[in-house]
Amino acid sequence: MSTNEKTDRNGDTSQALPKIEVYNTLSKRKEEFVTVQPGHVGMYLCGPTVYKPSHIGHMVGPVIFDTVKRYLEYSGWKVTWVVNITDVDDKLIAESALRGTTMAKLAEEMTADYLANLAALGVRSIDKMPKATEHIDNIIGFVQGLVEKGFAYASEGDVYFDVTKDSDYGRLSNRSVESMQGEGGSTVDRKRSAADFALWKKAKQGEPMWESPWGPGRPGWHIECSAMSRAILGEQFDIHGGGLDLVFPHHENEIAQSESLHGCCMARYWMHNGLMQAAGTTGKVGGRSAAQSLPEATLDAQAQAATKISKSTGAEPFKKLLERHRPETVRVLVLSTHYRSPIHFGEEPLGESARAMEAFERLFSRYERLSGKSFYVLTAKNRRDGDAAANLAGNEAELLRVKFLAAMDDDFNTAVGIATLFDFVRLVNKYIDQHGLEKKSSADVLSQLSEMMLVLRELTDTLGLFLTEPIATRIGADEKTVSKLMELVIEIRSRSRAAKDFATADLVRTKLAEAGIVVEDRADGTLWSRKKEAT
Ligand SMILES: [Zn+2]
Repeated sequence: MSTNEKTDRNGDTSQALPKIEVYNTLSKRKEEFVTVQPGHVGMYLCGPTVYKPSHIGHMVGPVIFDTVKRYLEYSGWKVTWVVNITDVDDKLIAESALRGTTMAKLAEEMTADYLANLAALGVRSIDKMPKATEHIDNIIGFVQGLVEKGFAYASEGDVYFDVTKDSDYGRLSNRSVESMQGEGGSTVDRKRSAADFALWKKAKQGEPMWESPWGPGRPGWHIECSAMSRAILGEQFDIHGGGLDLVFPHHENEIAQSESLHGCCMARYWMHNGLMQAAGTTGKVGGRSAAQSLPEATLDAQAQAATKISKSTGAEPFKKLLERHRPETVRVLVLSTHYRSPIHFGEEPLGESARAMEAFERLFSRYERLSGKSFYVLTAKNRRDGDAAANLAGNEAELLRVKFLAAMDDDFNTAVGIATLFDFVRLVNKYIDQHGLEKKSSADVLSQLSEMMLVLRELTDTLGLFLTEPIATRIGADEKTVSKLMELVIEIRSRSRAAKDFATADLVRTKLAEAGIVVEDRADGTLWSRKKEAT
């Protein structure tokens, strides 16, 4: 529940912050969200290894944590969000050799692809995107610190973390050192025990390399995140995120490195999102049953059982997928499931999401027709300022707003959030119908309608939904121009009909359909909207 009592829960901040609960993989339970620094959140998400164009699986984490950031900022925190770019790695070296290019050029090209996809999805709130190759000195310093403290050892030009020196090793993923096999392969002879992992790798002939106290080489993957998160967010920060498949070994190793060196906790909350899976079946997006049940003990099972999307049908480049689906459809698909559950992916679930969005967009056009105002340019308050919207107090809209906030306060349950927004849309449509607004304009009713639309704007903003007008985006014109043109076209069509020139009226309708626009004649006027996606 969202209470707003004036406590010093987050230190002696003058602003009272709401109570939010976050599921912590480390403790395996929901915990009250209390930050290291009062009022400020440091959040780190493991980013991509940029060796291939990104696919939809790479977009899940960014959409989820962008939403987490939006919601926390709306709730009064300041958030610094870091997503790293792994631009040196075995896969990059192999792929650049295959393409006959340099690792740096390949990384640059694939980073640009990744950023373009994030922008299309409305993921605009990342504050820093450090690249591993820009932090080599920092990484070497980190490894040196671990060697000096006795947690790591050099061996034939490599440096390994000695897991037997870390008594806590395995606590995130609930594994014992004995059960871990480590990387194995050709490095096994150089390690003290099989579960030890590489912090620094000796360079092979022809590979990118940097000088180090252990000879030329390059960093291991896990150490990058420990070094870069410390450099930007400090030794201790608040949220560390990533997909469930990163719990072991990546995050386990990050914890081992950082906590051994610093002697204190690295991140307070370890948040892991479910992986995207090829769909077998799916519930109706945004339906009343969208609230997911969240078994608490399924983390490992999920990670193991999941057919990761990257290994199945969804591996096509995300840009190709965007030729068939609007980016907003993908965002709705991701957020229609609670972030800890697996997301079912496929043309059918995407089609469900597209249809779900249309329910919102039909209301937006209805509102624009009645009020002359575009939903997309409404400016709602972007702070929750207590829980009561003054003008809506006591009515059904305010109850739905409270329900939405309660769901989001409960471990960012966007699934219940979106289902609640659907109820909100139904409520507003019912309100318009019951007050006969289509037949007779009334200043009071319109003003109440506008208040409700502002609440809808406020809540959809926290999810990063409906940020841009879809048709305008699609044809590359500004929304005002499109709106004016459509008014004109519809006026011409209705005049043709009035003059019984049905051939012209039908021609307009056919041509609009070819352009992907559907016209709907109603007793109270003509509505236009985008055609449904073919599914
Ligand atoms: Zn990482």
